[in-house]
Amino acid sequence: MSRVQTFPASAPINFVSRNRNEGVSWATSALVDTLSSSPTLRLTGTPTISSADEDIFPSLPPLLHGHPDIHLRNGVMNAARLADANEPDAERAFFVGDLSQVYRQHLRWQACLPGVEPFYAVKCNPDPYVLRLLAALGTGFDCASNQEIAQVLALGVSPSRIIFANPCKAVSFVRNACTRGVDMMTFDNVDELYKVARAHPRAKLVLRILTDDTKSLCQLGIKFGAPLDNVPGLLAKARELELDVIGVSFHVGSGCYDPSVYTDAIRRARQAFDMGAAAGYTFSLLDVGGGFEDALFEQAAAFLTEALAQYFPDADRKGIRVIAEPGRFYVSKAFSLAANIIARRAPLAPSPTAEQEDGPSVMYYINDGVYGAFNCILFDHQVVQPYVLSMGNSFHVSEAEPVGAASVWGPTCDSIDCVCVNTRLPSALRVGDWLGFDNMGAYTSCAASQFNGFEVSKVVYTTGGGAGAAEVRGALARFAKEAHGL
Ligand SMILES: *Cc1c(COP(=O)(O)O)cnc(C)c1O
Repeated sequence: MSRVQTFPASAPINFVSRNRNEGVSWATSALVDTLSSSPTLRLTGTPTISSADEDIFPSLPPLLHGHPDIHLRNGVMNAARLADANEPDAERAFFVGDLSQVYRQHLRWQACLPGVEPFYAVKCNPDPYVLRLLAALGTGFDCASNQEIAQVLALGVSPSRIIFANPCKAVSFVRNACTRGVDMMTFDNVDELYKVARAHPRAKLVLRILTDDTKSLCQLGIKFGAPLDNVPGLLAKARELELDVIGVSFHVGSGCYDPSVYTDAIRRARQAFDMGAAAGYTFSLLDVGGGFEDALFEQAAAFLTEALAQYFPDADRKGIRVIAEPGRFYVSKAFSLAANIIARRAPLAPSPTAEQEDGPSVMYYINDGVYGAFNCILFDHQVVQPYVLSMGNSFHVSEAEPVGAASVWGPTCDSIDCVCVNTRLPSALRVGDWLGFDNMGAYTSCAASQFNGFEVSKVVYTTGGGAGAAEVRGALARFAKEAHGL
């Protein structure tokens, strides 16, 4: 008998204790009642059989067809079957990755910023399918470490399509870049110039300047970027060391919520270009960094295009190549996470405000948390919003379903492991039900740990149910052929 069935936990929480010192008592008799009635999980909805018709990459998990929602549901149904078969960890959380969404973002990029070449920031999500798809689509890659460089080169990507966009690198990493033929790399300090002069004197250096990052969730300026005041000195030193500086880069900060900052950043880049000319360099590269938010992308692109026209009117004609390092823009919406409710309890100290509104808050414990996929809450300042994926063996939650205050917690024994402090979920939600989370593609699994013995959630891949599916398959199949089926 499966764990899910043994403890259906359909017992209502007994909120008898409102005093934190008294603790919580459960309606044990109701719980015992339900133990005898082990319902089989019979999920209604759209059971769709989706299979991979061919394995494009034999070394990777299969690439399925169909809308990601179908795969979220299939995963839930599959978990029920595995639970029936006594499979350990049957109800494990899982991602569904929709590669056609990555493809659609690429089309959006090309439509809005046709003159700006994207170099995907690998750190954001180094997923093997995402990297292959972007390589197939012809993007470049922003790598920050030996490992990221190795991962991209292993796909057969030319080292000329990589920018080593970490201004502070270990000498051995610089030497390795030299060996591997990765020449483009950023710097923002004098020590870096000495390192590069020693370890990779042929490098094509890109000066990372400081720009205003106060309108971003993750401000990078406290760590990277040379203030314009320092630029002439840095360039003089580069000249002295006979290094080739080819251009300028900046990063407005990750998760930028005011796209007008690109205007000021481009203005500063123009000044840095002029300082380059004064130092005897002819810059040919402008790297506008990352920070592109999905919802604000068109606005950001408009600000960028206008600023480029104003400050770099000759960008195309005079041999200035413009590149960018988008990360989250490409992947954030492409991944959803399904997590199982593994436990439920009443809080020791029910929140007084929530109680006034609609009764005491319920604590739900799910099987992925801030030490796993939801590290984006701590490191990336994300706010996540759960929705009900399945409840009471059904994928349909009625609009009329009563909802109440709830908090959602991860599975580890640490109290920092809180996914959602205060949300509203159906009061009928029970152990064994599933929650879904969208927009889980950026800065999630790549920074997940296995703290407390909880595995990093795996991904189910699909080429989606609509626009772009055939193109993704075609691009990947061609790429696999060229790259000898990696
Ligand atoms: C993280 C990072 C990026 C990607 O930022 P997004 O906000 O995800 O687009 C690009 N460039 C550099 C140097 C970075 O550190």
